[in-house]
Amino acid sequence: MKSYYCKRLYEEINFDAESVYVCCGNSVASSFPIYNKDNDKSLKSYLKHLLKWRKQCTKNAFLGKVDNGCINCFDLKEKNISFFEYIKTILFNTKMFKIKNIIIKSFRQCEFSCAYCLEKKYTKCRKTYNVQKSEFYDFLPILKELIKNNMLDKKELRLEFQGGSISVWNEFKEVLDTAVEYGVKSLFYHTNAVTLIPEICEAAKKIPSEMCISIDSGTKETFKKIKNEDKFETVINNIISYAKAGVKCSIKYILVKNLNDNSEELENFCKTIKYINDNLEEENKVLILLDIDFRDSLCNKDYIISDEYINLYKQVKSFCIENNIVYGCQKFIFDMLNKRKKLHNI
Ligand code: SF4
Ligand code: SF4
Repeated sequence: MKSYYCKRLYEEINFDAESVYVCCGNSVASSFPIYNKDNDKSLKSYLKHLLKWRKQCTKNAFLGKVDNGCINCFDLKEKNISFFEYIKTILFNTKMFKIKNIIIKSFRQCEFSCAYCLEKKYTKCRKTYNVQKSEFYDFLPILKELIKNNMLDKKELRLEFQGGSISVWNEFKEVLDTAVEYGVKSLFYHTNAVTLIPEICEAAKKIPSEMCISIDSGTKETFKKIKNEDKFETVINNIISYAKAGVKCSIKYILVKNLNDNSEELENFCKTIKYINDNLEEENKVLILLDIDFRDSLCNKDYIISDEYINLYKQVKSFCIENNIVYGCQKFIFDMLNKRKKLHNI
């Protein structure tokens, strides 16, 4: 029988600001309402329903009934399974339905106002340097309840902070403490790195930690145009501090039309990464990730990548090879390159 598989669908849950999704929401897969004190009996019963719904989504895919949002997603894989395998998995593989990856996006406040910000699209990304409560819901009680009721896969649990910006989200430190105390297996932060958070450096001593920071520029002028804040040097210094503390840092360059999608800026960016790495020991060196503006990827349903962008990718690649820098591209670009079957000669 036909069955569908996607690692995220099986392992992930995304606590977004206005809904809970089965995954990071690549293609806006199924959603569930967020916790509402007035409508839901108790947090415990809400979470039971949430996990039941998530399990059903996973079962459906296993049975070949795929969610509309997943249909065109590159992460979805098709495979054939026997009836015996189906029964064995559904009845006995309880581990398969436990959550292994939690994405936290329950807040939208941020110090920056990036030209491409997805959160701004909802007009609820509040630009601020003050630590604030999320206007959507509190996440800490949810994490505590998930832990208390043994609803997580402790052996593999990974917490991924998205946002908003964790440095102005009032729950961040307590959520991190709770996760560390519970024994989370890995941590991942998406951050603008405008503030150095000592608790992240401390946690990295005990738990494998990764961080993704988009700087999208190699000069303070372009940084300001994209981020709407004059903080290029602060961010570069903080990246060096995080990397020295043992956080594995990926530095992202999102190609934004007419702002930074040119060879000169990319060259400056590569030189900036070289400068960062020259300040670091071999085991702490940062890597480069290329990405494109989500506004382009969302309307690019045919996954077409221009020759111009392929040339920019080639430019980064040859700089990285020459300077011994690890590089890659965000999955969407990788999929596009693959689709054009040009990867072999890039
Ligand atoms: S197939 Fe894509 S949209 Fe569906 S759960 Fe997986 S990652 Fe999410
Ligand atoms: S740093 Fe992230 S959340 Fe903040 S404005 Fe930029 S894209 Fe949006």
